[in-house]
Amino acid sequence: MGRYQPPIYVYRSLGASRVGRRVVVVGAGPVGLALAIDLRLRGIDVALIDEDDTVSTGSRAICWAKRSLEIFDRLGVARPIVERGITWNTGKVFHRDRLVYGFNLLPETDHAFPAFVNLQQYHVEEALVARADALGAEVLWNHRLTGLDLRGQPTLTVDTPDGEVTIEADWVLACDGAKSQVRRLMGLDFRGQVFEDRFLIADVHMQAEFPTERWFWFDPPFHPGGSALLHRQADDIWRIDLQLGRDADPVEERKPERVVSRLRAMLGPDRRFELAWVSVYTFQCRRLERFRHGRVFFLGDAAHQVSPFGARGGNSGIQDADNLGWKLALVLKGAAPEHLLDSYDAERGPAADENILHSTRSTDFITPRSEASRRFRDAALSLAGDHGFARALVNSGRLSVASVYRNSPLSTPDVDAFPERLCPGSAAADARVGDEWLLPRLGGDDFTLLRFGSEDSEGIPSVDALGSSVARDRYGAESGTAYLIRPDQHVAARWRRPTREQVADALARATARVS
Ligand SMILES: Cc1cc2nc3c(=O)[nH]c(=O)nc-3n(C[C@H](O)[C@H](O)[C@H](O)COP(=O)(O)OP(=O)(O)OC[C@H]3O[C@@H](n4cnc5c(N)ncnc54)[C@H](O)[C@@H]3O)c2cc1C
Repeated sequence: MGRYQPPIYVYRSLGASRVGRRVVVVGAGPVGLALAIDLRLRGIDVALIDEDDTVSTGSRAICWAKRSLEIFDRLGVARPIVERGITWNTGKVFHRDRLVYGFNLLPETDHAFPAFVNLQQYHVEEALVARADALGAEVLWNHRLTGLDLRGQPTLTVDTPDGEVTIEADWVLACDGAKSQVRRLMGLDFRGQVFEDRFLIADVHMQAEFPTERWFWFDPPFHPGGSALLHRQADDIWRIDLQLGRDADPVEERKPERVVSRLRAMLGPDRRFELAWVSVYTFQCRRLERFRHGRVFFLGDAAHQVSPFGARGGNSGIQDADNLGWKLALVLKGAAPEHLLDSYDAERGPAADENILHSTRSTDFITPRSEASRRFRDAALSLAGDHGFARALVNSGRLSVASVYRNSPLSTPDVDAFPERLCPGSAAADARVGDEWLLPRLGGDDFTLLRFGSEDSEGIPSVDALGSSVARDRYGAESGTAYLIRPDQHVAARWRRPTREQVADALARATARVS
């Protein structure tokens, strides 16, 4: 098999040694690209600088969660990702040589997107770059941020093949990854935990008939004492993670003969495969204390990091972009006060905490740090096949879902009785409405009033879903019910029979025009 050939993107000069740009995104990874696309769709000019001239290669994100796919759909990039990727909904957990249980991450029907699509990060980034280009984002490859002066207007120093360039910006959006230069230049530290266990991550090319499911083993016969994970990706590439322990030597463990012998033990002596990428990782669960610092915002891995168990890294970064894009656009258009932007930290901070909590718990369960924890884990695994309570204790990674902004200052608390599902702060649920999907009709450019036979509200685009029994059921709706949906498709407020004043008040709160 030919190795993946990354594209080389063309360097373009800014044309002067000092320029001004309203919004500068630092880092064209999945998060920076998603944010630039979102801003362009909202009519905002955006410059995106990246130190490199290609997509990220090697073993990185593969699992894109339903919520990311819905956001990608809003951004106009879901189709190439879903078409090329591998759709899956089922996970299986094995202990030693037996199947403990299986789970379906999307037991409901009537959703446009599956629980997950697996696609290599480089393919996703390629799709995002094409979309950003098509929308006229100014993507500046080979532009490396080296300096940031925040004493007055934010001023970035950028190294380019033509020498140093200075960019004066109104807003700096740091999407420059786990080793964020913006973070370093501002002297900001991550707080959290670093895990010492090393993991071998191998992407192998092979023809295999295994079902498209997530398989996770604790202490399997082919890798005693460790854990293992198997996932299918596009192009007949399979991701295999093997826990190596704390004392593993990363240089030795990367050697092809060593990797091949570990994989032979797992895949059997007759399986033909080729190594595509091999890396040895340790993982961190940590975050910046605040994601907004004046005119600088941190998103994605620059703001927080988690272990890959749960696929929460890239997926939560996409939700960061989804959260900030509409707010910044409204502020730049003068349609909302600047302090609307504080809600980015108020909403995405707790989301990061939740991701870190889940990720830390999974990593603790997978790599127990004491003999007592290991015994507890093995007992839970032994009982989980027959007992539901033990199954709930088994944690091979709680997989990424949409964050619920429970205590958001932008939400209007319920005054009417509703089921907990889709409470204010939740991401709206999909359903079929006639021949269409509901989600693409919600949010986007503006707030939307999702009506169930209720009155139209002047000036707010609206969708009537009374005719869809699935939507009525999911939204706990009766005739007269209405939901106010934000541009990022999260619920701002809901009522059984709202007045125009109630809708207007909720809209004012959701745009920080009243508190
Ligand atoms: C083994 C592994 C498996 C993973 N699996 C998953 C998964 O299945 N699902 C998931 O959601 N996540 C997964 N992740 C996490 C995911 O890869 C990251 O969360 C994601 O890449 C973060 O995206 P980002 O855009 O924030 O940062 P990055 O992807 O790191 O992008 C940062 C960008 O900034 C640029 N940059 C850096 N410094 C500068 C500078 N000084 N000037 C200009 N540009 C700069 C870089 O070139 C890069 O393009 C996995 C990670 C690993 C390691």
